[in-house]
Amino acid sequence: MPPKAQFTREDGIYHSFCGLVSVGWLYQKIKDSFFLILGTHTCAHLLQNTMGVMIFARPRFAISLLEEADLSSAQPAIADQIAEITREHHPSVIFLLSSCTPEVMKVEFEGLAQSVSTPEVPVLFVPASGLDFTFSQSEDSVLQALIPFCPEAPPDDKRVVFLGSVNDAIADDFLFEASRLGIPVAGFLPANHFHELPPIGPGTIIAPLQPFLAKVANQLTNDRGATVMSSLFPFGPDGCRAFWEDLAAHFDLKVDLSEREAASWARIKEHTDLLKGKKVFLSADTLLELPLARFIRAAGAEVLECSTPYINRRFHARELALLDGVRLVEQANFERQLRSIAEEQPDLVISNIITANPLIGHGVVAKWGTEFIFSPIHGWAGVNTLVSLFTRALRRHARLDPLGNDPVWMAGVMPGAPEIIPLTRG
Ligand code: SF4
Repeated sequence: MPPKAQFTREDGIYHSFCGLVSVGWLYQKIKDSFFLILGTHTCAHLLQNTMGVMIFARPRFAISLLEEADLSSAQPAIADQIAEITREHHPSVIFLLSSCTPEVMKVEFEGLAQSVSTPEVPVLFVPASGLDFTFSQSEDSVLQALIPFCPEAPPDDKRVVFLGSVNDAIADDFLFEASRLGIPVAGFLPANHFHELPPIGPGTIIAPLQPFLAKVANQLTNDRGATVMSSLFPFGPDGCRAFWEDLAAHFDLKVDLSEREAASWARIKEHTDLLKGKKVFLSADTLLELPLARFIRAAGAEVLECSTPYINRRFHARELALLDGVRLVEQANFERQLRSIAEEQPDLVISNIITANPLIGHGVVAKWGTEFIFSPIHGWAGVNTLVSLFTRALRRHARLDPLGNDPVWMAGVMPGAPEIIPLTRG
């Protein structure tokens, strides 16, 4: 049994940012895919703004806008749009994503996807609405939809499948490292192309790269009999060492990466010197919080609080064990967090996209948690980028003129907060 981690569940919102946002990295990762979202103008507005879509670009995602007529029909009509997408973009697979309104309308998405699916271009339903998913979790839904298309590997095919989307440079780094250690690789889920999905079977070792993929990992065990590795996630020198040593052990390879870890820490000393003794508060939203907190703690920072939308005792067991003594909170109450920030005066707050700027307006040094999701922070190759995301915010703040009580900055910013977050930082 995994150790019983101590954490508090509060009454804050679970879904801090819409699940549709994962389209932003997944459409780039699966290069022959198309993402169609059945939604409203709100969803279109969100995607257009968060992904910075240029009008001349031809992104491989779109919103099928719900019309008034859809409210009275049995199913929204999307056949013409699917035909147009196939004609214009030639995708190998189309993901049909749900959103809040059609889910409230009880649109039967499975049936809708099947009605427009063909053997040549499957249309796969992906539950992703802001009602049920925090944004990184919808990658989990996309990967679950892909499982039936992964070839069945025979029991004696013992290779690793890396689980989670990373960019090509980071994927190359993982392939290189695996080959250096003599670990056979079956591939990545997701792969760069729909027809390159890795074979998965009872001999497969699943190595999770992202902490928000608990459901797909579980499904790979149930459906294919694969073994899901329990380790740290490969973030930071400490995480990478544990990840690769544990993975090697699955292949009966005894590997000692202590020198490699020490060299990696030495390379980022300039950053860790800055982080040492700093009080860090993770208030955030991405589900990356547990490994991020474990890494900055190992780098010498004091973690005042690590809040995250959701903790899975089994999937996060190794990270939780290393966060013993840290205040861990699931579904944190934001009002309480504001009071804690005012009382404890952290040197750095990792916060979500909605609250980071108002916190900065109140003199708190804050960083968007979202940036960690969109940055190449995995593996040995990602260590410098990872630590720089923490220290850049501190350095930038040190260079700024104090905002003081400048009313221009403060007017209308987080109206409920001025009494409880004193402007003490210079
Ligand atoms: S799916 Fe829901 S939360 Fe997401 S943009 Fe659409 S309406 Fe908003």
